[in-house]
Amino acid sequence: MKVPQDCTTVSPGVPDNGSPTVILRDTLGAQPALPGASLARPRPTDRTPDGPIDREVGTLRRRAPVEVALVYPNTYRVAGSSLGFQVIYRALNADPGLACHRAVLPEQAQTGQRPPPVRSLEFAKPLADYDAILVSIAYELDVGNLAMLLEASGIAALARDRAPTAPPVVVGGPLTTSNVLPIGPIADLVVLGEADEAIDTVRGWLTEQPSRAALAQLARDVPGMWVPALHGDAVPGQLSVRGDRLPALGQWRSPDAEFGDMMLLEASRGCPRYCKFCVVRAPVAPMREPELDRVVQALDRPEYASAARVGFVGAAVSDWGPIKGALRAAIDRGKTFGISSLRADRLDEDDEFVDLLYAGGYRTMTVASDAASQRLRGKMAKGLRERHLMGAALQARRVGMRGFKMYVIVGLPDEGDADIAELVDFSLRLSTVTRTAITLSPFVPKLHTPLCDAPFEAEGSQSDKLRRIQAKLGRRVDVRFDSPKWAWIEYRLSQGGQATGEVAVEAARKGGAFAAWKAAFAELDARDPSEERRAAAAARSHSLWPVMGAR
Ligand code: SF4
Repeated sequence: MKVPQDCTTVSPGVPDNGSPTVILRDTLGAQPALPGASLARPRPTDRTPDGPIDREVGTLRRRAPVEVALVYPNTYRVAGSSLGFQVIYRALNADPGLACHRAVLPEQAQTGQRPPPVRSLEFAKPLADYDAILVSIAYELDVGNLAMLLEASGIAALARDRAPTAPPVVVGGPLTTSNVLPIGPIADLVVLGEADEAIDTVRGWLTEQPSRAALAQLARDVPGMWVPALHGDAVPGQLSVRGDRLPALGQWRSPDAEFGDMMLLEASRGCPRYCKFCVVRAPVAPMREPELDRVVQALDRPEYASAARVGFVGAAVSDWGPIKGALRAAIDRGKTFGISSLRADRLDEDDEFVDLLYAGGYRTMTVASDAASQRLRGKMAKGLRERHLMGAALQARRVGMRGFKMYVIVGLPDEGDADIAELVDFSLRLSTVTRTAITLSPFVPKLHTPLCDAPFEAEGSQSDKLRRIQAKLGRRVDVRFDSPKWAWIEYRLSQGGQATGEVAVEAARKGGAFAAWKAAFAELDARDPSEERRAAAAARSHSLWPVMGAR
């Protein structure tokens, strides 16, 4: 599993071949009405040959004078779990002059094979035939997937090599809240931060026949737009969505998506807390909280009323004041639900909250401790104590849940043997309360956090540590961990400059395996060792790019 370094405690997994995949953490958007949208299952005659959307509900099949491809550079399974991707699809299809079709990374790319040319899910139209390509990207390693997907479709991955007749490539999504420089060589324009705030601007650009020349003007006129060919490394500040645009609603559901046949909904945005490793922390993304009524009304919309399951997603779902009211409303409507982030200190003494979770079908209590020991949780400003985590495990046992799952970041600055010993001891104690699983994720320092300059623990040292933990916990605790090798690639993309994006393109051209990435980085480092930490240096030297929350 790939573990997000925020409070999101569900994430699509990594395929068996260890290819990179994506976290679920969404930046979402406004919900216009959907004139003419069909929420029915596609009729047999509408089906895309061999497409993955046969079992999907909520597909929008529209044609219009301007047609854009909305790309998610990962598989359909992962894309279907991104509410941000769904929000943009929904919003663009609300415009009568526009049709937005989706495209995803073919499954073959996950098995090391060269993917076939990519076609849209709705009409099997080749990607290169669209008027523009919009990309929703959530995770560093998907930069390589994006390059692979474009080149497989006959579109040059590097913007400077792209034919004038090729569709412009516009990138947005959660990754743009962190280090965007590696996207620079690929994108014609990047929408920074919460892209739902820019949807009207992007829609205006699209309906006037999208061109690269118009993108440059857009970047001059509108905040939050980065044109790498124009700005270089001087990345403008990010957009932040207004609270009155929430809740953000999904458009489709499918049993083939990572979270199953579930309608996703994001009630609140941002987080009120200050954890030092996290890019969603309060100084960067203050909490925006809609009234409960708005969320309850959303549950009564046809697309939610017809769904048996609702997924409440977001970075800080259990910190949203009216969350219990929303869960009760879902239960009253006969629904079960999933929740993407729960804090242990919201659960340990709140029987009512935990009873609601159980009544809504929640069966594994999943929380993040985010550090190996109490000392480190304190240093990270996590605000959680061991008693909160133990209390949540006891709550899971009280209501009869199947078990307790805890996400832990290892390799945080100053972590020592005593911290790891405490993690082992605590995990064993948890396992005496209920069935326990822990998922370990190597710490990756992120831009725009106070730990931006922290070191990344060497891969060999991480692997040793993970093996030792696993050996000590034996069969009493189910231990899973992210690959330290891929965490290193993520680190390089989190900290590198635009040349790092060219590394991603090179690695994608050579098949995207770890060896291809490693060789491409070795070449880059031989040319310019300072590229490893280029992003923070660039951020500091360009006042246009606020290093929000970095101190
Ligand atoms: S800042 Fe918020 S979202 Fe990030 S880890 Fe802390 S509690 Fe979770």
